[in-house]
Amino acid sequence: MAKKSGDAGSGLRYRRIVAKFGTNLLTAGSDELDMTVMAVLVDQVARLRQQGAQMLIVTSGAIAAGRHRLGTPRVRRDIPQRQVFAAVGQSHLMQFYDELFRRHDIVVAQSLLTRHDLSDRQGYLNARNTLLALIELGVVPIINENDTVATDEIRETVIGDNDTLSALVANLVDADALVILTDIDGLYTADPRHNPGAERIARVDNVDAGIEAIAGSAGTSRGVGGMLTKVRAAALATSSGVDVIITDGRKPNVLTAIAGGIDHGTLFPARADRQEGRRRYLLSGLSARGSVVIDAGATRALCAEGRSLLPAGVSEVQGAFERGDAIDILSGEGTRIARGISNYGAADLRRISGIRSDRIAGVLGYEYGSEAVHRNNLVLLTP
Ligand code: GLU
Repeated sequence: MAKKSGDAGSGLRYRRIVAKFGTNLLTAGSDELDMTVMAVLVDQVARLRQQGAQMLIVTSGAIAAGRHRLGTPRVRRDIPQRQVFAAVGQSHLMQFYDELFRRHDIVVAQSLLTRHDLSDRQGYLNARNTLLALIELGVVPIINENDTVATDEIRETVIGDNDTLSALVANLVDADALVILTDIDGLYTADPRHNPGAERIARVDNVDAGIEAIAGSAGTSRGVGGMLTKVRAAALATSSGVDVIITDGRKPNVLTAIAGGIDHGTLFPARADRQEGRRRYLLSGLSARGSVVIDAGATRALCAEGRSLLPAGVSEVQGAFERGDAIDILSGEGTRIARGISNYGAADLRRISGIRSDRIAGVLGYEYGSEAVHRNNLVLLTP
């Protein structure tokens, strides 16, 4: 069963949604961005946001837009060219989104990520904190790979396709659902354009070798990621607790319908409980590099009031951890009450422990936010 987050209080099945728009969709199969198509997608995102959903977009289309702007034929596909196209096209892409969302009084933000950003612990924390802060403000983050710096030559930097990027983002922000919108209505048993007997597979519980083989032959059209990268992205996101839907973004109101609980395309139900997954990640995926002892007021704020840990509540800092490391949070009696990712390294935290958050910048000369450990990056160990 697809999980219901059900807490948006507005009949939405999902509250936090990552929507991925592919190049073929955004260009309507042409050589340039199609404003009409984009407007239809943006209208749906705006409607969902107005209904209380938190929306993030992972968008392709920068390379296509840049290529069109420079008047270069589609045949040139070498990497430096693609980077040039992406650099030119990204600003046009954002300009379009900005203009379209402005009609709904919605502010957008651009976020360009690389694989390195998401595998580096500080990059991960920065990206997560920023995206969560944006959606809390009602801003719609619009995310693409930073194609200018991410190249195949530097292996560890490249994600390479936005299907995978969208799965990483869905995981990063703890999304309820990832909706991959493309130009085909989900996964088919064979390529429906060539095989009239091909049937849509409504639900995939497990991306196994058989499904990969089907996806490898079924393919979508000209995007960077075909159906195989999409089902692999689905496997990645479902394993961290995200429902994934692959469907045809050209169908009227498809995104709003999915968010409202109507099935479309192919559903890959989450294979793990998301909160449990994050808990496990924090508790066993990361080893604590140090710890902080907190006072009674902070213990109450964390355990009873569901709040973040502020430097003011920290009475002692133990170990040599860096910003982005996991740390244990101990009560005055030495009981381990929580584990979280620290916004500050141990040296900084020693300097600001016990002080009010509005004085952090005065003491350090900079700040990474008011919290020593933000609530979003913290798991309680007490019942
Ligand atoms: N980052 C590329 C672009 O914006 C797209 C990659 C993809 O479509 O998977 O054009």
